[in-house]
Amino acid sequence: MNKNRKAFVAANWKMNVLPSKAVQLAEDIIEACGNLHVDVVIAPPFTHLSLMKQLIFNNFSLAAQNVHFEDYGAHTGSVSVPMLKDLNVEYVILGHSEIREANHLENSLLPMKINACLKADLSIIYCCGEPKEEREKQNEKQYVKRQLDENFSQLIEWNSEKIIIAYEPIWAIGTGLTASSEQADEMHAFIRNWIGKKYGDKNARETRILYGGSVKSSNAKELAMKENIDGALVGGASLKAEEFSLIVRGFKG
Ligand code: PEP
Repeated sequence: MNKNRKAFVAANWKMNVLPSKAVQLAEDIIEACGNLHVDVVIAPPFTHLSLMKQLIFNNFSLAAQNVHFEDYGAHTGSVSVPMLKDLNVEYVILGHSEIREANHLENSLLPMKINACLKADLSIIYCCGEPKEEREKQNEKQYVKRQLDENFSQLIEWNSEKIIIAYEPIWAIGTGLTASSEQADEMHAFIRNWIGKKYGDKNARETRILYGGSVKSSNAKELAMKENIDGALVGGASLKAEEFSLIVRGFKG
């Protein structure tokens, strides 16, 4: 693998792990991963972030699973960019399909969320991906293109260090079904091409594009071999340190 892009593997704990167990699990992950040339990011629930901020070092960083686009105010239940920055959080997952499904307004809020994060120098892991019906109609590329067009509509300048894309076909998330490495690579190439057309070839070449959807140690290596797959966003398999570390190792190049 010689892609000139540093591999990136993120753990999305979703709404799992008690706060009292979070530091231990993160420490186990860090120990099991060792000192690899891979960026490893853990996205726990909001309640765990302040407990875990001591763990950030070397290639390990913290991510939040969502954010509000306003800095402060009457937004009960929300967390803002300055709050995350105050906890040394470096990344925010935006546009995860589970959030898009729970809140149908989410798609329209994403341009403002993207803007709020990047303006404050907070990196984003932006998720896109099609539902099963769109894949069955062979409409998956148009679907993802529409998400990208709409969600990045306000972005004038791309920053390939601060924007990580995660292609997550919805039919593969938490289902045990994985897109084949060819299907994933084809979509990643399509997304890279979209970046190139809008923001230039250099950004297209440099942006890391992750695959997400039932990634396990048994399929990580095959995905990692593909030209356009630079890492993974991992849900279920990130809750076991050993299994997650094997995925990270699969991407180490
Ligand atoms: C995810 O939550 O982004 C995800 C890909 O989950 P899983 O690995 O469990 O499919």
